[in-house]
Amino acid sequence: MTFHGMWAELLPVGRSAASGGYRRFAWTGADAECRAWFREQAEARGLAYETDRNGNQWAWLGDPAAGDAVVTGSHLDSVPDGGAFDGPLGVVSAFAALDELRARGARFTRPLGLVNFGDEEGARFGLACVGSRLTAGRLTAEQAHRLTDADGITLPRAMEAAGHDPGALGPDPERLARIGAFVELHVEQGRALDLSGDPVGVASAIWPHGRWRFDFRGEANHAGTTRLADRRDPMLPYARTVLAARRRAERAGAVATFGKVAVEPNGVNAVPALVRGWLDSRAPAQDTLDAVVGGIEEAAREHAAAHGVGLDVVRESFTPLVEFDHALRDELARILGRTGQPGLKVPVLGTGAGHDAGILAGSIPTAMLFVRNPTGVSHSPAESAAEDDCVAGVLALAAVLEGLACR
Ligand SMILES: [Zn+2]
Repeated sequence: MTFHGMWAELLPVGRSAASGGYRRFAWTGADAECRAWFREQAEARGLAYETDRNGNQWAWLGDPAAGDAVVTGSHLDSVPDGGAFDGPLGVVSAFAALDELRARGARFTRPLGLVNFGDEEGARFGLACVGSRLTAGRLTAEQAHRLTDADGITLPRAMEAAGHDPGALGPDPERLARIGAFVELHVEQGRALDLSGDPVGVASAIWPHGRWRFDFRGEANHAGTTRLADRRDPMLPYARTVLAARRRAERAGAVATFGKVAVEPNGVNAVPALVRGWLDSRAPAQDTLDAVVGGIEEAAREHAAAHGVGLDVVRESFTPLVEFDHALRDELARILGRTGQPGLKVPVLGTGAGHDAGILAGSIPTAMLFVRNPTGVSHSPAESAAEDDCVAGVLALAAVLEGLACR
């Protein structure tokens, strides 16, 4: 089956008629359809299919027990009303790249694995990359057992309902020890390739990123009768802080976003008592991120004090810089440089988004390929990639797999 054939099969699965976006949440019916599709594709190609203890799906050409396997793939689940490309592009391209190599008569000297990692987006249980985290030992079974969705259904119950036994959740070092290289192809979630004019790029690193909660505490009061001079209005320092975040990020080449806010009492005619804003910030380097967030906090304290408002800042989560394996990254760049037009330079770029590849990079040599996204829009139905670029991605992945596994 061609890339387009596979793409067309997946396209309607879990798509909301109202929004045009995807709702392929882990262990739901739409997810089950995607998983059945993966299994069919594996079996149609005569690959050995298996689901691991953590619910990740694998398809093998050659015996993985031989070790030093080359693995490629991504995920098929989505964020709420996500786009068609984030995840599925990497899985469909994996099958298409294998087909391409077989058509060329390539002979594999290393086992080749294709993978669909479970619950990458964390849309249902609030934690991203659950399948790869469990496998890499970055999430314990006890922690996974406590994950609960908005309806109060725990992860183990959801898995059971979908026909997967949650009894064996946990680290899988033997599996990882058999993998010599993992390469994830992914649609770019930014415009770096669009700006550089290249269809495909290689990832250098995933930026360090974190979330901070800013609690501005003032005094609730009547919006009509309280003199401006008498107010302790936490909305004012919050507003200043949002602007400071933008300014600090701009200056440092970072990003900083207040994308979620909660106001108490949240009444039109009440001066707020509390404004709670969540900051998401990411930067190419740790010291840059520290400086940006430190600067935002300093500005918040200054403005809070000026308005007689209290401030607490809590770091809720943090992920340090993930640098992809230098040797593997350089090999990818070399392979792709060789296959392209003479003198073609494959751009190497950092990203602010997390991936299974970022989780696995702590355990095994890992690399990523990005395919150009003309608008940079992602996690939205507007996410896109041109057909020619998808084909370029498949050919790049095929070249990489050939270079790594057919030596
Ligand atoms: Zn993704």
